[in-house]
Amino acid sequence: MTLTTPPTSGGRAEAPALAARAASVGASPVREILALTARPEVISFAGGLPAPELFDAERISAAFATVLAESPERVLQYSTTEGDPELRRAVAARLTGRGLPTGADDLLVTGGSQQALSLLATALLGPGDVVLVEDPTYLAALQSFGFAGARVLPVPSDAEGIDPAALEELVLRERPKLLYLIPTFQNPTGRTLSAERRRAVAEVAGRHGLWLVEDDPYGDLRFSGEPVPWVASYEAAADRTVLLGSFSKIMAPGMRLGWLRAPAVLRRACTIAKQAADLHTSTVDQAAAARYLTDNDLEVHLNRVRAAYRERRDALDDGLADALPAGSSWNRPDGGMFLWVSLPAGYDATALLQRAITHNVAYVPGTPFFAGPPDPTTLRMSFTTHTPDEIREGLHRLAQAVAAHG
Ligand code: PMP
Repeated sequence: MTLTTPPTSGGRAEAPALAARAASVGASPVREILALTARPEVISFAGGLPAPELFDAERISAAFATVLAESPERVLQYSTTEGDPELRRAVAARLTGRGLPTGADDLLVTGGSQQALSLLATALLGPGDVVLVEDPTYLAALQSFGFAGARVLPVPSDAEGIDPAALEELVLRERPKLLYLIPTFQNPTGRTLSAERRRAVAEVAGRHGLWLVEDDPYGDLRFSGEPVPWVASYEAAADRTVLLGSFSKIMAPGMRLGWLRAPAVLRRACTIAKQAADLHTSTVDQAAAARYLTDNDLEVHLNRVRAAYRERRDALDDGLADALPAGSSWNRPDGGMFLWVSLPAGYDATALLQRAITHNVAYVPGTPFFAGPPDPTTLRMSFTTHTPDEIREGLHRLAQAVAAHG
Protein backbone atom coordinates (compact mmCIF):
# COMPACT_ATOMS: atom_id res chain seq x y z
CA MET A 1 0.00 0.00 0.00
CA THR A 2 1.32 3.46 -0.88
CA LEU A 3 0.49 6.53 1.14
CA THR A 4 1.31 10.08 0.06
CA THR A 5 2.02 11.03 3.66
CA PRO A 6 3.42 8.32 5.96
CA PRO A 7 1.48 7.95 9.18
CA THR A 8 3.18 9.57 12.12
CA SER A 9 3.96 7.19 14.91
CA GLY A 10 0.71 6.40 16.60
CA GLY A 11 -0.97 9.38 14.86
CA ARG A 12 -3.14 9.72 11.78
CA ALA A 13 -2.02 11.09 8.41
CA GLU A 14 -4.02 13.85 6.80
CA ALA A 15 -6.28 12.88 3.90
CA PRO A 16 -4.88 14.01 0.54
CA ALA A 17 -5.78 17.51 -0.59
CA LEU A 18 -8.70 18.28 -2.89
CA ALA A 19 -8.01 18.43 -6.61
CA ALA A 20 -6.81 21.86 -7.68
CA ARG A 21 -10.01 22.38 -9.65
CA ALA A 22 -12.16 21.78 -6.56
CA ALA A 23 -10.06 24.04 -4.39
CA SER A 24 -10.12 26.87 -6.91
CA VAL A 25 -13.91 27.03 -7.39
CA GLY A 26 -15.04 28.65 -4.17
CA ALA A 27 -18.42 29.26 -2.59
CA SER A 28 -19.84 32.72 -3.14
CA PRO A 29 -20.03 35.14 -0.19
CA VAL A 30 -23.35 36.35 -1.58
CA ARG A 31 -24.78 32.86 -0.99
CA GLU A 32 -24.10 33.35 2.69
CA ILE A 33 -25.97 36.65 2.74
CA LEU A 34 -28.81 35.09 0.78
CA ALA A 35 -29.13 32.31 3.35
CA LEU A 36 -30.62 35.05 5.55
CA THR A 37 -33.42 35.58 3.05
CA ALA A 38 -34.91 32.13 3.60
CA ARG A 39 -36.93 33.43 6.59
CA PRO A 40 -40.66 33.21 5.72
CA GLU A 41 -41.27 36.89 6.53
CA VAL A 42 -38.82 37.98 3.80
CA ILE A 43 -40.27 38.95 0.42
CA SER A 44 -37.48 37.76 -1.79
CA PHE A 45 -36.81 38.87 -5.34
CA ALA A 46 -33.55 36.94 -5.07
CA GLY A 47 -34.58 33.42 -6.06
CA GLY A 48 -34.37 31.91 -9.50
CA LEU A 49 -37.33 29.60 -8.97
CA PRO A 50 -40.46 29.12 -11.04
CA ALA A 51 -43.74 29.84 -9.21
CA PRO A 52 -44.62 26.58 -7.40
CA GLU A 53 -48.37 27.26 -7.29
CA LEU A 54 -48.34 27.21 -11.10
CA PHE A 55 -46.89 23.69 -11.39
CA ASP A 56 -49.39 21.50 -13.22
CA ALA A 57 -49.12 19.08 -10.30
CA GLU A 58 -52.33 17.17 -10.88
CA ARG A 59 -51.56 16.30 -14.49
CA ILE A 60 -47.91 15.58 -13.78
CA SER A 61 -49.01 13.27 -11.00
CA ALA A 62 -51.46 11.57 -13.38
CA ALA A 63 -48.66 11.06 -15.93
CA PHE A 64 -46.46 9.38 -13.30
CA ALA A 65 -49.39 7.19 -12.16
CA THR A 66 -50.16 6.16 -15.74
CA VAL A 67 -46.63 5.14 -16.71
CA LEU A 68 -46.09 3.32 -13.42
CA ALA A 69 -49.38 1.43 -13.83
CA GLU A 70 -48.94 0.67 -17.53
CA SER A 71 -45.30 -0.32 -17.76
CA PRO A 72 -43.59 -0.56 -14.37
CA GLU A 73 -41.06 -3.07 -15.70
CA ARG A 74 -39.87 -0.50 -18.23
CA VAL A 75 -40.04 2.78 -16.31
CA LEU A 76 -38.39 1.40 -13.16
CA GLN A 77 -35.57 -0.22 -15.14
CA TYR A 78 -32.21 1.13 -16.33
CA SER A 79 -32.47 2.72 -19.76
CA THR A 80 -30.28 4.14 -22.52
CA THR A 81 -27.90 7.06 -22.02
CA GLU A 82 -29.37 8.96 -24.98
CA GLY A 83 -32.75 9.13 -23.27
CA ASP A 84 -36.38 8.08 -23.67
CA PRO A 85 -37.12 7.91 -27.43
CA GLU A 86 -40.66 9.18 -26.94
CA LEU A 87 -39.49 12.19 -24.96
CA ARG A 88 -36.82 12.95 -27.54
CA ARG A 89 -39.42 12.68 -30.33
CA ALA A 90 -41.69 15.13 -28.50
CA VAL A 91 -38.85 17.65 -27.97
CA ALA A 92 -37.70 17.24 -31.59
CA ALA A 93 -41.24 17.88 -32.85
CA ARG A 94 -41.48 21.06 -30.73
CA LEU A 95 -38.16 22.36 -32.08
CA THR A 96 -39.04 21.47 -35.66
CA GLY A 97 -42.43 23.13 -35.29
CA ARG A 98 -40.70 26.32 -34.21
CA GLY A 99 -38.36 26.47 -37.17
CA LEU A 100 -35.39 24.34 -36.17
CA PRO A 101 -35.55 21.00 -38.01
CA THR A 102 -34.56 18.35 -35.46
CA GLY A 103 -34.78 14.58 -35.26
CA ALA A 104 -35.07 12.58 -32.04
CA ASP A 105 -31.55 11.24 -32.64
CA ASP A 106 -30.09 14.77 -32.65
CA LEU A 107 -30.92 15.01 -28.94
CA LEU A 108 -29.40 13.77 -25.69
CA VAL A 109 -31.61 13.93 -22.59
CA THR A 110 -29.75 15.44 -19.63
CA GLY A 111 -30.29 15.96 -15.92
CA GLY A 112 -31.45 19.54 -16.43
CA SER A 113 -29.46 21.88 -18.63
CA GLN A 114 -27.00 22.21 -15.77
CA GLN A 115 -25.79 18.69 -16.52
CA ALA A 116 -25.50 19.60 -20.18
CA LEU A 117 -23.12 22.42 -19.21
CA SER A 118 -21.04 20.07 -17.15
CA LEU A 119 -20.95 17.42 -19.94
CA LEU A 120 -19.89 20.05 -22.46
CA ALA A 121 -17.13 21.19 -20.12
CA THR A 122 -15.95 17.58 -19.79
CA ALA A 123 -16.13 16.94 -23.52
CA LEU A 124 -14.58 20.18 -24.74
CA LEU A 125 -12.43 21.87 -22.12
CA GLY A 126 -9.04 21.24 -20.63
CA PRO A 127 -7.02 23.36 -18.21
CA GLY A 128 -6.17 26.73 -19.74
CA ASP A 129 -8.69 26.51 -22.58
CA VAL A 130 -10.45 29.81 -23.13
CA VAL A 131 -14.23 30.17 -22.79
CA LEU A 132 -15.94 33.42 -23.71
CA VAL A 133 -19.06 34.49 -21.85
CA GLU A 134 -21.47 37.37 -21.71
CA ASP A 135 -20.80 39.73 -18.84
CA PRO A 136 -22.62 39.26 -16.55
CA THR A 137 -23.67 35.63 -17.03
CA TYR A 138 -25.19 32.60 -15.29
CA LEU A 139 -23.23 31.83 -12.17
CA ALA A 140 -23.36 28.04 -12.28
CA ALA A 141 -22.10 28.03 -15.88
CA LEU A 142 -19.04 29.89 -14.62
CA GLN A 143 -18.67 27.12 -12.03
CA SER A 144 -18.88 24.34 -14.65
CA PHE A 145 -16.24 26.00 -16.81
CA GLY A 146 -14.15 26.74 -13.71
CA PHE A 147 -14.18 23.07 -12.69
CA ALA A 148 -12.77 22.15 -16.09
CA GLY A 149 -9.86 24.53 -15.46
CA ALA A 150 -10.90 26.85 -18.27
CA ARG A 151 -9.90 30.48 -18.45
CA VAL A 152 -13.19 32.38 -18.64
CA LEU A 153 -13.13 35.77 -20.37
CA PRO A 154 -15.99 38.25 -20.68
CA VAL A 155 -17.05 39.61 -24.06
CA PRO A 156 -17.83 43.33 -23.96
CA SER A 157 -21.61 43.67 -23.79
CA ASP A 158 -24.20 46.45 -23.75
CA ALA A 159 -27.94 46.60 -23.02
CA GLU A 160 -28.60 44.33 -26.01
CA GLY A 161 -26.05 41.69 -25.11
CA ILE A 162 -22.64 40.90 -26.56
CA ASP A 163 -21.07 43.12 -29.18
CA PRO A 164 -20.20 40.98 -32.25
CA ALA A 165 -17.29 43.24 -33.32
CA ALA A 166 -15.70 43.05 -29.87
CA LEU A 167 -16.33 39.30 -29.95
CA GLU A 168 -14.42 38.90 -33.19
CA GLU A 169 -11.46 40.87 -31.84
CA LEU A 170 -11.37 38.70 -28.73
CA VAL A 171 -11.66 35.50 -30.76
CA LEU A 172 -8.67 36.49 -32.90
CA ARG A 173 -6.62 37.37 -29.85
CA GLU A 174 -7.56 34.56 -27.46
CA ARG A 175 -8.46 31.62 -29.73
CA PRO A 176 -11.32 30.43 -27.48
CA LYS A 177 -12.78 26.93 -27.64
CA LEU A 178 -16.32 28.08 -27.04
CA LEU A 179 -18.67 30.98 -26.51
CA TYR A 180 -21.42 30.50 -23.94
CA LEU A 181 -24.58 32.50 -24.61
CA ILE A 182 -28.03 32.81 -23.06
CA PRO A 183 -29.50 34.80 -25.93
CA THR A 184 -33.13 34.95 -24.76
CA PHE A 185 -34.27 36.49 -21.44
CA GLN A 186 -30.80 36.05 -20.08
CA ASN A 187 -29.96 35.10 -16.52
CA PRO A 188 -29.19 37.44 -14.78
CA THR A 189 -30.10 40.46 -16.95
CA GLY A 190 -33.35 39.42 -18.66
CA ARG A 191 -32.01 40.86 -21.91
CA THR A 192 -32.42 39.31 -25.37
CA LEU A 193 -29.88 39.33 -28.17
CA SER A 194 -31.33 40.78 -31.40
CA ALA A 195 -31.67 38.70 -34.57
CA GLU A 196 -28.98 40.81 -36.30
CA ARG A 197 -26.50 40.17 -33.52
CA ARG A 198 -27.34 36.46 -33.50
CA ARG A 199 -26.53 36.29 -37.19
CA ALA A 200 -23.30 38.23 -36.65
CA VAL A 201 -22.27 35.97 -33.74
CA ALA A 202 -22.97 32.85 -35.84
CA GLU A 203 -20.84 34.31 -38.63
CA VAL A 204 -17.94 34.99 -36.27
CA ALA A 205 -18.13 31.39 -35.04
CA GLY A 206 -18.29 30.12 -38.62
CA ARG A 207 -15.30 32.21 -39.75
CA HIS A 208 -13.05 31.45 -36.81
CA GLY A 209 -14.09 27.97 -35.71
CA LEU A 210 -15.37 28.06 -32.18
CA TRP A 211 -18.22 26.18 -30.53
CA LEU A 212 -21.34 28.15 -29.64
CA VAL A 213 -23.34 27.00 -26.63
CA GLU A 214 -26.83 28.46 -26.76
CA ASP A 215 -28.49 27.95 -23.38
CA ASP A 216 -32.23 28.55 -23.65
CA PRO A 217 -34.17 27.66 -20.51
CA TYR A 218 -36.35 30.80 -20.67
CA GLY A 219 -37.32 31.24 -24.35
CA ASP A 220 -40.70 29.52 -23.88
CA LEU A 221 -41.66 32.06 -21.22
CA ARG A 222 -42.26 34.90 -23.69
CA PHE A 223 -45.28 37.02 -22.80
CA SER A 224 -44.79 39.99 -25.15
CA GLY A 225 -42.87 40.90 -28.31
CA GLU A 226 -41.89 38.69 -31.24
CA PRO A 227 -39.85 35.48 -30.96
CA VAL A 228 -36.25 35.71 -32.21
CA PRO A 229 -34.75 32.71 -34.08
CA TRP A 230 -32.36 30.46 -32.18
CA VAL A 231 -28.68 31.11 -32.91
CA ALA A 232 -28.62 27.40 -33.82
CA SER A 233 -30.91 28.13 -36.77
CA TYR A 234 -28.35 30.32 -38.58
CA GLU A 235 -26.54 28.38 -41.29
CA ALA A 236 -23.14 29.97 -40.63
CA ALA A 237 -22.65 28.08 -37.37
CA ALA A 238 -25.17 25.25 -37.69
CA ASP A 239 -22.38 22.66 -37.52
CA ARG A 240 -20.90 24.10 -34.31
CA THR A 241 -23.84 25.29 -32.23
CA VAL A 242 -25.13 23.35 -29.24
CA LEU A 243 -28.65 24.24 -28.12
CA LEU A 244 -29.61 23.47 -24.53
CA GLY A 245 -33.21 23.21 -23.37
CA SER A 246 -34.84 22.44 -20.07
CA PHE A 247 -38.15 21.33 -18.61
CA SER A 248 -37.34 23.21 -15.40
CA LYS A 249 -39.16 26.42 -16.20
CA ILE A 250 -41.91 24.93 -18.37
CA MET A 251 -42.83 21.83 -16.36
CA ALA A 252 -41.01 21.39 -13.01
CA PRO A 253 -37.34 21.80 -12.04
CA GLY A 254 -37.53 18.97 -9.51
CA MET A 255 -37.86 16.48 -12.37
CA ARG A 256 -34.33 17.48 -13.45
CA LEU A 257 -34.98 17.09 -17.17
CA GLY A 258 -33.19 18.90 -19.93
CA TRP A 259 -31.82 18.16 -23.36
CA LEU A 260 -28.89 18.95 -25.57
CA ARG A 261 -29.04 19.29 -29.37
CA ALA A 262 -25.58 19.03 -30.83
CA PRO A 263 -23.71 17.99 -33.97
CA ALA A 264 -22.98 14.24 -33.95
CA VAL A 265 -19.31 14.32 -32.93
CA LEU A 266 -19.93 16.48 -29.89
CA ARG A 267 -23.19 14.74 -28.97
CA ARG A 268 -21.39 11.39 -28.92
CA ALA A 269 -18.65 12.78 -26.69
CA CYS A 270 -21.30 14.19 -24.33
CA THR A 271 -23.10 10.83 -24.32
CA ILE A 272 -19.92 9.07 -23.21
CA ALA A 273 -19.30 11.74 -20.57
CA LYS A 274 -22.86 11.20 -19.34
CA GLN A 275 -22.30 7.44 -19.10
CA ALA A 276 -19.43 8.20 -16.76
CA ALA A 277 -21.49 10.74 -14.80
CA ASP A 278 -24.80 8.94 -14.22
CA LEU A 279 -25.44 6.27 -16.92
CA HIS A 280 -28.74 7.94 -17.81
CA THR A 281 -31.40 10.36 -16.61
CA SER A 282 -34.18 8.88 -14.45
CA THR A 283 -36.26 6.51 -16.60
CA VAL A 284 -39.50 7.15 -14.75
CA ASP A 285 -39.17 10.94 -14.82
CA GLN A 286 -38.52 10.88 -18.56
CA ALA A 287 -41.44 8.53 -19.18
CA ALA A 288 -43.78 10.70 -17.10
CA ALA A 289 -42.71 13.85 -18.94
CA ALA A 290 -43.24 12.13 -22.30
CA ARG A 291 -46.65 10.92 -21.15
CA TYR A 292 -47.58 14.41 -19.94
CA LEU A 293 -46.73 15.82 -23.36
CA THR A 294 -48.84 13.15 -25.10
CA ASP A 295 -51.88 13.56 -22.86
CA ASN A 296 -51.83 17.36 -22.48
CA ASP A 297 -51.21 20.49 -24.47
CA LEU A 298 -48.11 22.05 -22.94
CA GLU A 299 -49.08 25.38 -24.51
CA VAL A 300 -52.22 25.56 -22.36
CA HIS A 301 -50.08 25.25 -19.24
CA LEU A 302 -47.47 27.67 -20.59
CA ASN A 303 -50.11 30.28 -21.37
CA ARG A 304 -51.20 30.18 -17.74
CA VAL A 305 -47.61 30.63 -16.57
CA ARG A 306 -46.90 33.39 -19.11
CA ALA A 307 -50.03 35.34 -18.09
CA ALA A 308 -49.09 35.19 -14.40
CA TYR A 309 -45.46 36.15 -15.02
CA ARG A 310 -46.50 39.05 -17.23
CA GLU A 311 -48.70 40.43 -14.47
CA ARG A 312 -45.87 40.01 -11.97
CA ARG A 313 -43.31 41.63 -14.28
CA ASP A 314 -45.69 44.58 -14.67
CA ALA A 315 -46.16 44.91 -10.90
CA LEU A 316 -42.40 44.96 -10.40
CA ASP A 317 -41.66 47.29 -13.30
CA ASP A 318 -44.48 49.70 -12.33
CA GLY A 319 -43.34 49.97 -8.72
CA LEU A 320 -39.58 50.22 -9.14
CA ALA A 321 -39.49 53.96 -9.86
CA ASP A 322 -40.90 54.68 -6.39
CA ALA A 323 -38.74 52.09 -4.63
CA LEU A 324 -35.28 52.74 -6.04
CA PRO A 325 -33.06 55.78 -5.62
CA ALA A 326 -33.61 58.51 -8.25
CA GLY A 327 -31.34 57.90 -11.23
CA SER A 328 -31.65 54.09 -11.13
CA SER A 329 -32.36 52.28 -14.38
CA TRP A 330 -33.73 48.85 -15.26
CA ASN A 331 -35.04 46.89 -18.23
CA ARG A 332 -38.51 45.54 -18.99
CA PRO A 333 -37.99 42.05 -20.42
CA ASP A 334 -40.55 40.45 -22.74
CA GLY A 335 -40.32 37.15 -20.88
CA GLY A 336 -38.27 34.97 -18.60
CA MET A 337 -37.98 35.49 -14.87
CA PHE A 338 -35.59 38.38 -14.21
CA LEU A 339 -34.94 42.05 -14.65
CA TRP A 340 -31.70 43.89 -14.06
CA VAL A 341 -31.24 47.11 -12.15
CA SER A 342 -28.40 49.65 -12.13
CA LEU A 343 -28.37 51.90 -9.08
CA PRO A 344 -26.90 55.39 -9.44
CA ALA A 345 -23.09 55.68 -9.35
CA GLY A 346 -21.72 55.42 -5.83
CA TYR A 347 -24.33 52.88 -4.64
CA ASP A 348 -23.22 49.39 -3.63
CA ALA A 349 -25.96 46.82 -4.16
CA THR A 350 -24.35 44.38 -1.69
CA ALA A 351 -24.31 46.99 1.10
CA LEU A 352 -27.89 47.97 0.31
CA LEU A 353 -28.92 44.29 0.47
CA GLN A 354 -27.73 44.07 4.08
CA ARG A 355 -30.07 46.97 4.86
CA ALA A 356 -32.89 45.50 2.74
CA ILE A 357 -32.75 42.24 4.69
CA THR A 358 -33.41 44.13 7.93
CA HIS A 359 -36.58 45.39 6.19
CA ASN A 360 -37.50 41.81 5.19
CA VAL A 361 -36.95 42.21 1.47
CA ALA A 362 -34.15 40.78 -0.70
CA TYR A 363 -32.63 40.65 -4.18
CA VAL A 364 -29.31 39.35 -5.55
CA PRO A 365 -26.43 41.79 -6.00
CA GLY A 366 -25.01 41.66 -9.53
CA THR A 367 -21.37 41.26 -8.48
CA PRO A 368 -21.04 37.43 -8.49
CA PHE A 369 -22.44 37.15 -12.03
CA PHE A 370 -19.54 39.03 -13.61
CA ALA A 371 -16.62 37.14 -15.14
CA GLY A 372 -14.72 40.42 -15.50
CA PRO A 373 -14.57 43.37 -13.11
CA PRO A 374 -17.98 43.56 -11.43
CA ASP A 375 -20.30 46.56 -11.50
CA PRO A 376 -21.23 46.99 -7.82
CA THR A 377 -24.26 49.16 -8.64
CA THR A 378 -26.12 46.28 -10.31
CA LEU A 379 -28.64 43.79 -8.97
CA ARG A 380 -30.99 41.06 -10.23
CA MET A 381 -34.66 40.87 -9.34
CA SER A 382 -36.88 37.88 -10.05
CA PHE A 383 -40.59 38.57 -10.58
CA THR A 384 -41.90 34.99 -10.62
CA THR A 385 -42.60 33.75 -7.11
CA HIS A 386 -44.75 36.49 -5.58
CA THR A 387 -48.23 37.77 -6.38
CA PRO A 388 -48.56 41.38 -7.58
CA ASP A 389 -49.73 42.41 -4.07
CA GLU A 390 -46.70 40.80 -2.46
CA ILE A 391 -44.47 42.44 -5.04
CA ARG A 392 -45.94 45.85 -4.18
CA GLU A 393 -45.39 45.19 -0.48
CA GLY A 394 -41.81 44.08 -1.22
CA LEU A 395 -41.16 47.28 -3.13
CA HIS A 396 -42.62 49.34 -0.29
CA ARG A 397 -40.10 47.69 2.06
CA LEU A 398 -37.31 48.25 -0.44
CA ALA A 399 -38.18 51.96 -0.58
CA GLN A 400 -37.87 52.08 3.22
CA ALA A 401 -34.52 50.32 3.08
CA VAL A 402 -33.25 52.78 0.46
CA ALA A 403 -34.44 55.74 2.57
CA ALA A 404 -32.76 54.31 5.69
CA HIS A 405 -29.58 53.59 3.74
CA GLY A 406 -29.23 57.30 2.99
N1 PMP B 1 -28.88 27.77 -17.56
C1 PMP B 1 -29.40 28.91 -17.09
C2 PMP B 1 -29.15 30.17 -17.83
C3 PMP B 1 -30.15 28.90 -15.92
O1 PMP B 1 -30.64 30.05 -15.44
C4 PMP B 1 -30.38 27.67 -15.25
C5 PMP B 1 -31.16 27.54 -13.97
N2 PMP B 1 -31.62 28.59 -13.34
C6 PMP B 1 -29.82 26.52 -15.80
C7 PMP B 1 -29.08 26.60 -16.96
C8 PMP B 1 -29.97 25.18 -15.16
O2 PMP B 1 -31.28 24.76 -15.19
P1 PMP B 1 -31.74 23.26 -15.11
O3 PMP B 1 -30.56 22.42 -14.80
O4 PMP B 1 -32.77 23.23 -14.03
O5 PMP B 1 -32.32 22.96 -16.45
